Amino acid sequence: MVPFTLSGDPVPADAGSSAAYLAGGTTMADLMKLNVLTPEVVTFVRPALSAEVTEQADGLRVGAGCTMAALADHPVVRAKLPAVRHALILAASPQIRNLATVGGNLLQRTRCPYFRHTEYRCNKREPGSGCDAQEEGADRSLMAVLGVSDRCIANYPGDFAVAFAALGGSVETEHQDGRRTIPATDLHRLPGDEPHEETVLRPGELITHLRLPLSPAAANGWYCKVRERSSYAFALASAAVGLELDGDAVKSCHVALGGVGVKPWRSPEAEAALTGGPATDEAFAVAAEAALAPASPPEGTEYKVKLAKRTLVYALQRLRDEGPPDDATLFALQHGREFG
Ligand SMILES: Cc1cc2nc3c(=O)[nH]c(=O)nc-3n(C[C@H](O)[C@H](O)[C@H](O)COP(=O)(O)OP(=O)(O)OC[C@H]3O[C@@H](n4cnc5c(N)ncnc54)[C@H](O)[C@@H]3O)c2cc1C
Repeated sequence: MVPFTLSGDPVPADAGSSAAYLAGGTTMADLMKLNVLTPEVVTFVRPALSAEVTEQADGLRVGAGCTMAALADHPVVRAKLPAVRHALILAASPQIRNLATVGGNLLQRTRCPYFRHTEYRCNKREPGSGCDAQEEGADRSLMAVLGVSDRCIANYPGDFAVAFAALGGSVETEHQDGRRTIPATDLHRLPGDEPHEETVLRPGELITHLRLPLSPAAANGWYCKVRERSSYAFALASAAVGLELDGDAVKSCHVALGGVGVKPWRSPEAEAALTGGPATDEAFAVAAEAALAPASPPEGTEYKVKLAKRTLVYALQRLRDEGPPDDATLFALQHGREFG
């Protein structure tokens, strides 16, 4: 690890990669130990961040310093935002969830091995150096299928950000030029020609709060995560879904996919296909086709297109038939069996 100075000052707007914020440190410390990130100054921002969760008329306002565990256990999240609770409790491990903040969670970095190991060329780590993930013989099995570019095919690994995007969340930020609110769907950028620019945050811009809106579809939702083993693994594919049903018809809905996109992937195409129509298996299949229509799978990732469609259809069917799973059922499903 390259030596660094610990600071309490805001990261200056002109610092570039020489300074960075650290909250829980569960992404930062890993990447600094691997020499993927080598800031000279690290601002330990957690003491300055609120960890409070406040109930407001339209939803929750959450301090960016709130831990993943604390948000998952908040009574309003338990009662009215099941997909958020599920995405948080199916992520990482209890130790990490007790330390990691929700602000840092949104900004966690890709697990692409070509990014995380400095012997490989990576446009995200070193702009313009190339993308070894796209070279002959590379292992692309965990890469993205939605939003990829010829410069980068790394997928966004997080769970909570998928539910956050599905529900129409937003972040409040602070910068030397002022405060602003950024919708969750605009926070992360597509890689295009500049994969190192992962978000729209400006250098030094700090996420201070997250806003989680409440809605009937959010209250009837869940987060379905498919992974290689049943705990402590990132999603191969996941779906955050919410359905407001009026009899057999879908009055409103939320749909986002994880594990398959270069960013948390809300699907307006799937939402449009479902809204106002019948909540039938056929309609769910049409929505899944619509969600994956923009996919452009790199060689070796084709299975993810099929997996994501099946995950989405299953998530919608189960929600329609059984409603949001309780914790016991959720964990039983993770272990490949229905509960009871
Ligand atoms: C072994 C392991 C398994 C994991 N499994 C999963 C999983 O299954 N699902 C999942 O979703 N996640 C998983 N994670 C990722 C984990 O959830 C994240 O590392 C964690 O949420 C990051 O939060 P943090 O507070 O520790 O962030 P930090 O490591 O402190 O920071 C992360 C990034 O955010 C920036 N940052 C932090 N806070 C702010 C802020 N307020 N404003 C602006 N920038 C900020 C930092 O500069 C850094 O770039 C796993 C991590 C590990 C180590």
